[in-house]
Amino acid sequence: MGPIPKTRDLFSTIAAQVLAFLLPARCAGCDAFLPQQSAYRLCSTCRASLQRIDEPICRTCGIPVGFNGVDFPLCQRCVKAPPSFGKARSLFYYRRSADAAPDILGSVIRRHKYGPNQALGVVLAELLDGQLPVDADYDVALPVPLHRRRLIRRGFNQAALLAAAVSRKLGCRLDVATLIRVIATSPQTAQDLDSRRRNVHNAFAVRYPERIAGLKVLLIDDVLTTGATANECARVLRAAGACAVDVLTIARAL
Ligand SMILES: [Zn+2]
Ligand SMILES: [Zn+2]
Repeated sequence: MGPIPKTRDLFSTIAAQVLAFLLPARCAGCDAFLPQQSAYRLCSTCRASLQRIDEPICRTCGIPVGFNGVDFPLCQRCVKAPPSFGKARSLFYYRRSADAAPDILGSVIRRHKYGPNQALGVVLAELLDGQLPVDADYDVALPVPLHRRRLIRRGFNQAALLAAAVSRKLGCRLDVATLIRVIATSPQTAQDLDSRRRNVHNAFAVRYPERIAGLKVLLIDDVLTTGATANECARVLRAAGACAVDVLTIARAL
């Protein structure tokens, strides 16, 4: 990913701070004006509407499971095809349907992903407030990478912004260079699991295996949908010598 996004990160952070000083801040979820002294970039209504994921969840992929009190540790999909990652955890539900209650997190993520406002990295860091549902002893945090072309077009990788926030929080190393996307896959939206798996097969590579050999890795992305991308990243990281790979996303699409 090199020095270009880093410089842009720094510039945008400064620009966002200057803008925040000059303009009345608006909520990143609903665009309402924020109180002058608000410490958050989300208004109190939006913050209250985020749905944390609670137990019971699948021990492996983290998807909520309802077994009516029966303590069955895995979902059907993980039983049929165990993923390459050890476990995946997400902080919030992410509902795509328009008929659902106002989709604050979806709105934040869509703006974050497709808009130029990198200050939303601050919002996502805010969402990481509190204890993370992952272990405390990872050696390194890696973002799910964008292909170079997409990174240049977009100017930043939202997963890398998140990974930076997570690595600071967990006190582990951040590595944005080792895992790379070698094939520019088509966007994963609106595809079933099989086509998603085919779509990402061999799309990733490990550029510096020595940087992850024998280490416990935390892979970071914004949204986990079918898990096909995370699974493929975990597969190449394990093949390159990582001793364990877990996954943390801010949201879980249901
Ligand atoms: Zn709001
Ligand atoms: Zn599962």
